[in-house]
Amino acid sequence: MTATLKGKRVAILGYGNQGEAQALNLRDRGFDVVVGNREDEYAERARRDGLVVLDIAAASASGDVVVVLLPDEVQPHYQNVFGDLRAGQTLVFASGYNLAFNRLGVSSFCDVVLAAPRMLGAGVRDLVQKGRGFPMLVAAHQDVSEQAMATALAYCEAVGAFLPGGVAVASSFREEAILDLFSEHTWAASLTFFLEACFDVLTHSGISEEAALLELYASGELGTVGAAIAERGLFAQMALHSTTSQYGQLTRGPGYITEAMRERLEAVLRALADGSFAREWGAAEGTGRLEELRRRASDTPVARAEERLYRILGRRP
Ligand code: NDP
Repeated sequence: MTATLKGKRVAILGYGNQGEAQALNLRDRGFDVVVGNREDEYAERARRDGLVVLDIAAASASGDVVVVLLPDEVQPHYQNVFGDLRAGQTLVFASGYNLAFNRLGVSSFCDVVLAAPRMLGAGVRDLVQKGRGFPMLVAAHQDVSEQAMATALAYCEAVGAFLPGGVAVASSFREEAILDLFSEHTWAASLTFFLEACFDVLTHSGISEEAALLELYASGELGTVGAAIAERGLFAQMALHSTTSQYGQLTRGPGYITEAMRERLEAVLRALADGSFAREWGAAEGTGRLEELRRRASDTPVARAEERLYRILGRRP
């Protein structure tokens, strides 16, 4: 590793999930960091954490490296700020979404790179505090200085990604955006609704709501299995389950993967690659459609049973 951000200023725009984690990692690792945020409770929190807070435009103008950690849907409102970057500055995104789907224009004078953690902000902070790194996808979208990728890697190093256990994988804004959305539209989306269907089948067969919920996800076993998949591997983690469980999973699992399901996965990928999902979400944003979907999801038998159980367990007031 040759490039370093020592002696350069990093401006972190936004102090939310990723902004707070990355700013604190940079501060602890001895880098010059300022936060750009509106004047509100997030700005106060950053000041309480000992960081200098400027408004978003001033922070952006002051950074050699400007890291955009505002929510994806908010970033287009700051188009003028990103349009003002100068030669010598590097604009870093943590998500490929807005540039991949042409929702945002940026200055043509600066470098534009991707440093996208494959991890929640809480994990980015927690791992680095434990002296461990984390995975990043990196890409250069605009390479004016011919040093864009070196700067992207130097940013990964500065934020702690290359501590032991961490890695950067070369990607592109488009690939990162499509991969992220593909995960959300496939296993994450189906898992939620699959668990709801399991709850319906179990409770209609006479099993109590409480026993069904605890078995399906409320006990936390699902989280343990998820962590074991990440740590040991998809099939290797099965060694942690009983032999009866292993036999059941390996014989029953493949039956769910039908030709129709594979076609559905391909259709999801096509809708991402041709931009139709981005257009659909762009048209739905701000119309109240998401709030309506959320309201309907919170008024289902599984959500109502969960409310009762989680009160008994003290997880909800
Ligand atoms: P958050 O939703 O946590 O960002 C909140 C921050 O954005 C706060 O500082 C908030 O300040 C500010 N903000 C919100 N609305 C506005 C607004 N209208 N104008 C100005 N500031 C605003 O974002 P994330 O950290 O979740 O995401 C940041 C980026 O990181 C995104 O590109 C995302 O895709 C990417 N990413 C996120 C991950 C995660 O862990 N969530 C994982 C990997 C990538 P305030 O409202 O006080 O102004």
